[in-house]
Amino acid sequence: MTTATAVSDLTASDPIADPAAHRVLTGDRPTGPLHLGHYFGTLQNRVRLQDRGVEMFVLVADYQVITDRDLADRLAEHTENLVLDYLAAGLDPDRATIFAHSAVPALNQLLLPFLSLVSVAELSRNPTVKDEIAHSSQAAVNGLMFTYPVHQAADILFCKADLVPVGQDQLPHLEVARTIARRFNERYPHADGSAVFPRPKALLSDAPMLLGTDGGKMSKSRGNAVSLGATEDETARIIRGAKTDAERRISYDPANRPEVSSLVLLAALCQERTPEAIAEEIGDGGAAALKRTVTESVNEYFRPLRARRAELATDRGRLRQVLRDGAARANAIADATLAEVREVMGAI
Ligand code: ATP
Ligand code: MG
Repeated sequence: MTTATAVSDLTASDPIADPAAHRVLTGDRPTGPLHLGHYFGTLQNRVRLQDRGVEMFVLVADYQVITDRDLADRLAEHTENLVLDYLAAGLDPDRATIFAHSAVPALNQLLLPFLSLVSVAELSRNPTVKDEIAHSSQAAVNGLMFTYPVHQAADILFCKADLVPVGQDQLPHLEVARTIARRFNERYPHADGSAVFPRPKALLSDAPMLLGTDGGKMSKSRGNAVSLGATEDETARIIRGAKTDAERRISYDPANRPEVSSLVLLAALCQERTPEAIAEEIGDGGAAALKRTVTESVNEYFRPLRARRAELATDRGRLRQVLRDGAARANAIADATLAEVREVMGAI
């Protein structure tokens, strides 16, 4: 895993000096509602970038659902609910192109030349893929599981995005996308020698891997998450069940106390304070006090988002319209990129 290519800490070091010089693409699988890990790992950065005027593409990765399960269960419902979460979090469909990748045929066709640019050995040593195989419910690992990082390169490169706000689990996939962009550019330059694709960079947040209640990565599919749309009571119940440790004094020590530290970080992000200050304040209060603080902070911070979400949820037609408009814009761009790819490859 390479972090050297990642731009981190958007607010402090401000790598986006010129918003017009960038294009962002990122996305999520429609496997369930978005959770706090999504919000602090990537969604908040998307909204910040959008609000700074960076061109934004947000993709519902519906073909990626079937990497680790046989059927895409309740796909339409999950897809609409992702859009609902995006809008509630502040993504604005007039400024951000929101679409499902299955609705963009030319994007998917980029998968074929891109697959030729990576070796089977490279695909099979991807650490995130290995972790997902370990958590998969399938008896046998399917081919899409090993190749979806290449499909993700097509997701990013179809619109020539150069910035990808993601969680830490995505860094190996970003390396795949960078490798594919570099090899494609080397193999198939334009006649004037210029490159077809940018080399995209990951953009990490202050919470690149929020932990779930079981101490593993908070994930939609692992039953360990607090979703953005959870009620205040659900939030309290889920956080009460979170794994902690036996030490009474609360500290912020991610290396040695990952579960406690992730909870401290969550409260800190919601209160917009440092994790050290939160840990100091709770002191000898133990896990129960920590969980109370986290619950109150989460419920307080997400109250406006949850209210917007409840309001937006009444208009399912609007959610589907957002996807149709987004797909139209994405298709125009994907068609142009595919035409360019076919041209540099010498296809007629
Ligand atoms: P699933 O279990 O279905 O794979 P997921 O929770 O892993 O769901 P994804 O749709 O796979 O969510 O990931 C969407 C984006 O959210 C990615 O950029 C990923 O890095 C980021 N992300 C997911 N979980 C976390 C987390 N716990 N902390 C920070 N970022 C996260
Ligand atoms: Mg995932």
